[in-house]
Amino acid sequence: MARASLPVRNAKRSPEQMLKELRQRLREIRDLSGAAAVLNWDQSTYMPPGGAAARARQYAVVSKLAHERMTSAALGRLVDALAPYGETLPADSDDARLIAVVRRDFEKAAKVPARYVARASAIGAASYDAWTRARPANDFSAMQSWLQQMVDLSREYASYFAPYAHISDPLIDDTDEGMTYASVRALLAALRTELVPLVRAVCEEPLADTTCLHGDFAPDSQVAFGLSITRAFGYDLNRGRLDRSPHPFCTKFSADDVRITTRIRPDELTYSLFSILHEAGHAMYEQGVAQELADTPLGQGASIGVHESQSRLWENVVGRSFHFWDHYFPELQSRFSRQLASTSVETFYRAINKVERTLIRTEADELTYNLHIIIRFELETELLEGKLAVKDLPEAWRARYESDLGVVPPDDRDGCLQDVHWYGNGVGAAFPSYTIGNVLSAQFYAAALRAHPDIPQQIRAGEFGVLHGWLRENLYRSGRKFMPAKTVQRASGEPISIKPYMEYLRKKYGELYRLPLSSAPAERTRA
Ligand code: ZN
Repeated sequence: MARASLPVRNAKRSPEQMLKELRQRLREIRDLSGAAAVLNWDQSTYMPPGGAAARARQYAVVSKLAHERMTSAALGRLVDALAPYGETLPADSDDARLIAVVRRDFEKAAKVPARYVARASAIGAASYDAWTRARPANDFSAMQSWLQQMVDLSREYASYFAPYAHISDPLIDDTDEGMTYASVRALLAALRTELVPLVRAVCEEPLADTTCLHGDFAPDSQVAFGLSITRAFGYDLNRGRLDRSPHPFCTKFSADDVRITTRIRPDELTYSLFSILHEAGHAMYEQGVAQELADTPLGQGASIGVHESQSRLWENVVGRSFHFWDHYFPELQSRFSRQLASTSVETFYRAINKVERTLIRTEADELTYNLHIIIRFELETELLEGKLAVKDLPEAWRARYESDLGVVPPDDRDGCLQDVHWYGNGVGAAFPSYTIGNVLSAQFYAAALRAHPDIPQQIRAGEFGVLHGWLRENLYRSGRKFMPAKTVQRASGEPISIKPYMEYLRKKYGELYRLPLSSAPAERTRA
């Protein structure tokens, strides 16, 4: 309203001049965000504990400056004035997309009052802090009022985008733009129908022996091995690096500085390794975005779900495949010759793909992982809808784990307190992105295989250039230029579908467990 009544200061300037100013403003906002990322990265890696209080202030100041600039009236006037010009440009041109995306981002950000943003981040930080103590103490009662506040904040956030078809819609749109409660629910329901019988069939088989993964594995050797693989994948270490932190993450300071971290357990062989491969997938996506899009809101991954597809593709589809280990196991064996002398590649491959119904999402295998997500999505929906009271969450959690996974957490620490998301970031929308990522990882890989059927043989030879090149060309380059659904369509030739993912799982686990899983459950019953 305020924007429309202001005089049109941009009237005398050419669209090209205004576009130049827009790019300058966006670069400053990206630089502020990059500076905030440096502060955060340092805090998670090397900062001495004494630096915490000042660092929290520094981070808050820089983040606030970035947010103020992203929602400033001047930026709003600029994108409004540029909108008609954007419509005269070719629809898929960088400039047309930049104007459209920045305008959409601006309009969304402008709907949320600054005082809400400040309150939500203060409550989120305090709630997170309480969770870091409540989880080890197994004390859900200490989190009850915090969780209630997080539910209320999420509901309030959604209210700024009313009317909506479902209260989760605005929350889902923030992480996976264009998706809705209805589309996510349909995707997860279809997946659940396919996964439940598959998990049941595999879990009737004897558990894989994972003895070879436990022992004494020098941390430096673990990291050196992981890093050598990421280099072979195509992670550019002139524009990236690997450090250690309590929780692994990928962060971006600029287009030419995309870093990853890992954490290490000296007694577990692959705990660190798969986190390195996972974060390298995120980093390669960011490194692969076209330089022309850098320093703008288009210069990043298309959505959280599409981003997760790349971490999962490199970690799981490639990194947990037999082809991959057929090549890399001898090298792993030579690095840990004493520990792995009598282990065969087949034994190792079965160990890293062990399927088991367990309590902890982050340690779940590829088959059961999505069942953990579906439980969380349904519970958080009920919390947001007001159908489930916060005080009843622990019991509802236990009931759902028993019915869907056949295991019951003995306490809340490994039950409804296990994930930070609800307690630190808010309730709703965070979990489905992981499953969207899993589904898309197989879909993109299948599309790459159609273009280059010999990719598995190349992986077997330790060559990843063709796969990485295909992903760069068809997915990474376009960054956030297009809506996620269009990005998926352009890269894979079809809308998001669980078909390639289920085919991937059936083939892999059918072979691993020598089960006839290669067709859908209904067809198998007929056969
Ligand atoms: Zn990830």
